[in-house]
Parts: sequence; C-alpha cells; structure tokens
Amino acid sequence: MIEILEKVKNALPAEAISRVELEGSELIVYTKDRDFFVKHEDMVRDVVGQLKKRIEVRPESAICMDQEATKKRIMEIVPPDANIKNIYFEEERSLVIIAAEKPGLVIGRGGDTFRQIRSETFWVPRIERIPPIKSDVIDGIRKVMHTEVKFRKEFLNKIGEKIFSERKTNRDWIRLIPLGGFRQVGRSCILLETPKSKVLVDCGVSPGATGSDAYPLLATKEFDPAELDAVIISHAHTDHVGFVPYLFEYGYEGPLYCTTPTLDLFALLDLDFIDIMQKNAVNPPYTVKGVKEAVTLDYGEVSDVAPDVRLTFQNAGHILGSSLVHLHIGEGMHNVVYGFDQKYARTNLLEPAFTDFQRCETLILESTYGGSGDVFPSRVDTEKMFMSTLNKTMEAGGQVLIPSFAVERAQELMTILALNGFDHTVYLDGMIWDATGIFTAYPEYLSRQMQKLIYANDDPFKKEIFKRIASPADREKAWNDKPSVIISTSGMLTGGPAMEHLKQLAEDPKNLLMFSSYQAEGTMGKRIQRGWRELPIGMNNGKSHTIQIKMQVETIEGLSGHSDRNQLLNFIQNLGSKPDRVIVCHGESSKEVDFARSLHKIFRIETAAPRNLESIRLK
Ligand SMILES: [Zn+2]
Repeated sequence: MIEILEKVKNALPAEAISRVELEGSELIVYTKDRDFFVKHEDMVRDVVGQLKKRIEVRPESAICMDQEATKKRIMEIVPPDANIKNIYFEEERSLVIIAAEKPGLVIGRGGDTFRQIRSETFWVPRIERIPPIKSDVIDGIRKVMHTEVKFRKEFLNKIGEKIFSERKTNRDWIRLIPLGGFRQVGRSCILLETPKSKVLVDCGVSPGATGSDAYPLLATKEFDPAELDAVIISHAHTDHVGFVPYLFEYGYEGPLYCTTPTLDLFALLDLDFIDIMQKNAVNPPYTVKGVKEAVTLDYGEVSDVAPDVRLTFQNAGHILGSSLVHLHIGEGMHNVVYGFDQKYARTNLLEPAFTDFQRCETLILESTYGGSGDVFPSRVDTEKMFMSTLNKTMEAGGQVLIPSFAVERAQELMTILALNGFDHTVYLDGMIWDATGIFTAYPEYLSRQMQKLIYANDDPFKKEIFKRIASPADREKAWNDKPSVIISTSGMLTGGPAMEHLKQLAEDPKNLLMFSSYQAEGTMGKRIQRGWRELPIGMNNGKSHTIQIKMQVETIEGLSGHSDRNQLLNFIQNLGSKPDRVIVCHGESSKEVDFARSLHKIFRIETAAPRNLESIRLK
C-alpha cells in the first residue's frame, strides 16, 4: 500500500471512506456517505493543508442520482442563459460533464450553483466551455478523453503509483543535458536528471533542417524513453513539440504535461489528426500519439510529476497557452525555471511573461533576439504603421495578402484590425479559422483587455468583417471582392492556400503583399523580401512556370512573440527570485555567447551558453 493513501485514509472519518485512489498526483477519495459527500469541504481542506496534496471527494456510483433525473435537475438549477448544449456522464469516475456556452453561469456566484448541483445530484460536476467559434480539434480531443475514460483512469492510477513510489537510485546530484535547441533555434529538448527521476522538457524538430540535424540528439547513453517519468511541453510550436509523437512510438508510455490550449494546438499541428477526424466522423482519432496520455494543468497549478519533481506552469506571453516551466526538485533542493520562448511585453492577446517566482536558482533563457542590435519598434508605432499601410491599399481599391501562421500571429492581426475599427472584409484561409476557435475557448488564458471585451459581448474574433474561406469557390469570391484583406497560411509562402492567392494577386500593382512575421532563408517569402520579382513556381508539362510580382511588397516589424534584448533584461531584473545561474539557449551561436557574457557583466551572476550534449551539473 502506498504510504500517502494510508495517510489520507487515516486523516478522514473511517466510516465515511470506501476507497482512496490516485489519478496522477491527485488523491481521489470515494464515499458512500451522502452527508459526508455534501459536507466534506472544511475537513478535506485541513488534510490538504497538512499533506500538501490535492484531494477530491467523489461519491460511489451507488449513491449518485439517476442520470435522467440528474440532467433534468441540472437544467432546472442552471439559468437558461448558460446555454447548456450537452450533459453526459463518466460513471467510472462519478463525474457529470456539463458543456455550456457560458460556464460562469454553471459555476454561479462564489461557486454556489456548482455546489448546489453537487449536493442535490450526488455527482461531481465538470464544466466544459463550448467555444463561440466551433473547433473540430476541441470536439475531437474531448471525444477522445471521453471514450478513453477507462484507459485514462488506469493510466492515471499507474502514473500516481510511480510518482508516490519509494524510489532508490545511486544519484545525489542534478544534471541538465541539452539535447537540442542550444546554440541554435530549433529542435528544443532538455533532459533533466534528478536524484530520483528523469524528465524531458520539450521535444521539437528543426523545420528547415534535413536528416538527423532535424531531430533532438536522443541517441545518447543517458536517454531511454522507457526511463522517463514525464514529458513536459512548454508550448505548441513545431520546434518544441514536433518530435513528441515519435517519443511514444519509440517506447515512451508515460504522461504528457501541458496546458489545455497547448494540447489543442499540438493536435491542430498534427494535420493527420484533422484529416482522420474529418474522414471518420464517427470514430474518434485514436492514432494521435500523446493526446490520450495528456495531463493538462492550468497556470499556477502545482503538481507532482515524478518522485522528486514538482511542476508549475506560468504564463510565458509567447502564444496561447505557452508556459514558463517551473520545476521544484527535492524538498527545497533546487528550482529551475525554463523560459525557452517568452515575451516580456504586453500584446493584444496576452499578458507579459510571469516573473513572480518564489524561488529560482537556475534560469534557462532564450536569446532569439538577445543581440545588442535587437531592439523592436514600439507596439503603438507598429500598429500605426500596419494600419496606414493597409488603408492606403484599401483607398486605391486593391487587395492585401498577408501570409501568416495559423496560430497567434493571425489572431494578433485580427485583433489589431478589429480594435482599430477596420471595416473592409478580412478573409481567413487555411487553418486560421480552426485555430481561432481554440482561442475563443480559453478567454481565461487571454489578456485582461481581451477578457473584458469578450465578457462585454464585444469579442474581436466575432466581428462581422471576418469571413472564412472553406472552399475554392469561397476563394474565387474573395478575389472578386475589392478592396479587401486576405490572411492565409503558410506564413513564409512555402505552400498552402497563400500560394493560390499570391498567383491570383501578384500581377496587379494596386495589390499589396504584406509580411508581418519572420521569413526564413530559402523560403519564397524571404526571396520576395530580398527583391526577387520573378519566381519559379514549379513545373508544368515539362515547362517551368514563373510568377511575376508586380504587386507592392511591405514588411511590418515589431509584432514578434519573442522578447527583444531589453525585454529579456527587464524580465531577469524583475524576477521575484534572483537566479544564481542563467543558461542561455535558443539563439544563433554568436548571439548566445554574447548574450551570456553581457548577462554576467550586468547581473554579476554565473552564465553559460552550452552546446547540445554539454551537460551542466546544477547541484
Ligand atoms: Zn515558440
């Protein structure tokens, strides 16, 4: 018997408790006593305080109200404005899931409605938000979680047993092994060895690279997927998550920790996932590696993930759901903050990165824009420039094409347009619409400004100027609607519907091609930025075809989701706990070295810019 289970049992009234189980690091107490189920809150709060573990009390199914009667009662208790669309049950866990458009109304003031549902139906309510813009990805993931409830219950129990096991090893040190993303941008991956555990943070690919350079350096003696306790992902960019599905193929069977929006965006990245879902609407997509093994945590939620590692995510300000990863190792032995991709400045969509860490001895920090010349123009100037450039084309009756990534940049552009009162139609092509649906599902992850607008029924994403392109016919229609704006994937003109739009719009000098994001070497976007005006676009009938760029071309700087040099320095300056050591990564080699040297001078702390595989002992 695991010690912690005994402790919980002994701390609560024996006659009320039928069993105690683990779901990951959470302790689930089952009861057959309706009175205890309704009135346990104070008693359990005391035990949580003593043991510092999360505890949830659930009824044995024998005392739950009949399902049909429960549904009826919930509809009576919850105000109709909540717009409940679905109520379903997970009997194995005594949960009733209530899917509503306004979850706040299901919770009620101070949780009153929620509590009333619990105490009258003897089920534990879980509330799901139905996003105002429908998302196939969210629907798909919820379906997987629901149909896999048996698998998940056993899986989480197994994880819990591992976390609370009395593990003995012969290590008494902590070591960080960089497996990718050091002295480079791409394939981010770190292995952390602690006295009792091994965890992996991020596992990405290098989109531009070929062969083994594209993947993290996993062929090392230290790395064995079967030995990992946890895989933690900071955010859903390919260079941080691209290799995760392969980990599961290579024998990893453990949990994948991330925030809920990160899980959705991770699934969105997996194009197969969408494909499978659309072709096979009846059966849920079991093939997605990592989704049914996911354990999602909110910002600030503390969770044990291994025998001596405690994880907390905090906002990184970089993309929706992106996190700074705080790892507490041992009981006060060491604290690591991992800040690979982060932005320490406000954008329309997100608050600046979190800095209020109680303890942080080692900080791992990006240096993408850590060079001495890396200073972005101000946000206000950037937006002004963006709007005036667009409006010039509108006045001339032309069309604007903005190639964009589906996630974050597209939504940031949408909010700039909406908040500046833009009143021409903005067409969205590629996966942008679906990604926007995911944004609308998580207002609590967005900036306070966005939340205010959404709760005041003035959601920028729902403005009528935005129209979805879902078919070739829609595309035709968009081309005939002038003036207008088209935002389309791919962001660097490496394929996707943006190429169709480019072919159509390129030859009219009234039109404008506007770049708002980074264009990598070797891409068509970069070539056009460099001034190429005649570009090959493949072969047809043995003849090579070219495209003539007669439209205008502009680039708007300053919308980056990364911190510039000053923002990085301010971030360190404002940290709640001064780090003893900063390890620099995620930058060009020379920039990393220079940035590490500067940090050492400015803050008088130990710094390092290791290469991949150069491990560092932290303790
Ligand atoms: Zn990123």
